[in-house]
Amino acid sequence: MTEITLFLFRNDLRLQDNAGLAAALAGDQPVLPLFVFDDKRDWSPGSASRWWLHHSLAALTADIEKLGGSLCLRRGDTLAQIEDILSNLQVNKIVFSRSYEPGQCAIEEAVYEQWHEQIEVKRYGGHLLFEPEQILTGQGQPYKVFTPFWKACLAQPEPCLPEPLPLKKADFYKGSVASDKLDDWALLPTSPDWANGLRETWQPGEAGAAKTLDNFLQTALANYDSDRDRPDRVGTSMLSPHLHFGEIAAARLWQTIKQHTAGDNKLRAQGMSFLRELGWRDFSNHLLFNWPHLPEQAFRSEFSRFPWKKDKRALARWQKGLTGYPIVDAGMRQLWHTGWMHNRVRMIVGSFLVKHLLIHWREGEDWFWDTLVDADLANNAAGWQWVAGSGADAAPYFRVFNPILQGKKFDPEGDYVRCWVPELATLDKKYIHEPWEADNDILAQASITLGQDYPSPIIEHSEGRKRAL
Ligand code: FAD
Repeated sequence: MTEITLFLFRNDLRLQDNAGLAAALAGDQPVLPLFVFDDKRDWSPGSASRWWLHHSLAALTADIEKLGGSLCLRRGDTLAQIEDILSNLQVNKIVFSRSYEPGQCAIEEAVYEQWHEQIEVKRYGGHLLFEPEQILTGQGQPYKVFTPFWKACLAQPEPCLPEPLPLKKADFYKGSVASDKLDDWALLPTSPDWANGLRETWQPGEAGAAKTLDNFLQTALANYDSDRDRPDRVGTSMLSPHLHFGEIAAARLWQTIKQHTAGDNKLRAQGMSFLRELGWRDFSNHLLFNWPHLPEQAFRSEFSRFPWKKDKRALARWQKGLTGYPIVDAGMRQLWHTGWMHNRVRMIVGSFLVKHLLIHWREGEDWFWDTLVDADLANNAAGWQWVAGSGADAAPYFRVFNPILQGKKFDPEGDYVRCWVPELATLDKKYIHEPWEADNDILAQASITLGQDYPSPIIEHSEGRKRAL
C-alpha cells in the first residue's frame, strides 16, 4: 500500500500561505486532505458560521479539485474519524495548523499522544502574526495589557510568509476513501432561508478573501485611521470572517500592507493602524490560549458576583433591534441581515446590553456566536469582556457608552441609522439619534408614531446609566 500524508484542514481553509499544507505537499508521498466537522463539542459553529463554513468548504473543494485532488469530508469526533482513516490507509504522517481554542488544543494533544509513536505528527503555525510563546513579559508571563503586548510584538522579527505551494509537485491522494457530501451536513438554512443578506454581502473562500483585501487597499486603507470608527462609511476591511476561517493568512496581510505602503509615510501610518487591529486579534488569541475559561468566566474574578438581571423580554428587544435607541437597533439589524456589525457599533450595543439593561455579557456573547459570520471564540469572548469591564485591559466599569452621543459622533448625518432602521428614514437629522425629542409635528412629517411605528426607548438613558453605576 502507498504511504500517504494526512493533512487535516481546520481554521486554515486556504491553499496559499499554508505552511503545513505546503510542507505536506513538498514531501515525496501523496497527500490526503481531510476536514472533520466535529459539531458535538462546546462552541461548535453557530448558524451564520455554518452558512459560511458550507461555502468556504465548497470553494476549497473546487480549488483542490483544480489541482487534481479531492477533499475528504467527515462529520463526527475528530479522533474517531482519523482512526477510521488510519485503519483503511497507510498513513505515516499527520500534518495540521495550530489552533488556540481550548477544545482544539485538546484535539492536538490527543492526536499527538495517540499516534506520535507510530506516525510522524507535525503542527505548523500561521493563524496569527506571533505565537503565544514568542510574546512574553520579562518575567516570562503572558501580557494582560495590550499596549506593552503590541510593543513586544513590534520588537520581534516581522512575520514572514511560508514557502509557496509546490504546485508542480502537488501530489494528492487519488485512491478511494469514504467521504460525506457537503450538502448532507445541512449547514445552510432552508425553512426559512434567512441567508439572503449574507449572500448579498459575502463571497466566502480564498478568492473572496483576496478580493476583499484588494478592495480594502484600493478604497479604505488611505483613511483607515479616521474612518475605522464610522459605521456610516465603508472604512474597515471586512476581512474578519475570512481571517476567522483562515482563508487568508495574517502574515499575508502584514506583508501586503508593508509593501503597499512603502515609501509613503502617510499611508504607512494608516497601514500600521490596521496592523495594530490585527494585533488585537493576536492579543485575544494569546489570552484565550493562556486563560482557556475566557469565553465562560470573568477574567477578573471580582466580576463573577455581579447581580445580572434575567429579563427575557428586554433581551429579545435587543436581539431584534427594537430598543428604541436608533444606533443600537441599526447595529442589531445590520447583524441580523448581513452576519456582521461594525466594531464601534459592537461596542455600543454591547455596552447597552450589559450596562443599560444589566443583562449578562454571556447572553450577548451567545447571540453574537450564533449570528456573526466572523464569530470567533477568542475575539468574541475578549470583546464582550472588554465591554463588560471584566476582561484583561477592558473598558473601565464606569464607562457607560451613551448611545445618543455615540450616534451623533460616529454617524453624524444618521445615514447608518437610515439604512438599517427604515422607519426613521425621513426623520430630520437633528432627531435621528433621539426621536423621542422631536415634537409631534416633526414625527408626523416623518410618518412616525412613537411606540407604534418605532418603539419608545426601553429605558431612559440617564436612569440606565445611574442603575449600572
Ligand atoms: P478591521 O478594522 O478591518 O480590522 C482588521 C482585522 O483585525 C479584523 O478583521 C479582525 O480580525 C481584527 N480586529 C479588528 N478589531 C479587533 C478587535 N477589537 N479585537 C480583535 N480583533 C480585531 N471580531 C471577530 O473577528 N470575531 C468576533 O466574534 C468578534 N466579536 C466581537 C464582540 C464584541 C462585543 C466586540 C466589541 C468586538 C468583537 N470583535 C470580533 C472585534 C471587531 O469588532 C471585529 O474584528 C471587526 O469589527 C471586524 O471588522 P473588520 O474586519 O472590518 O475590521
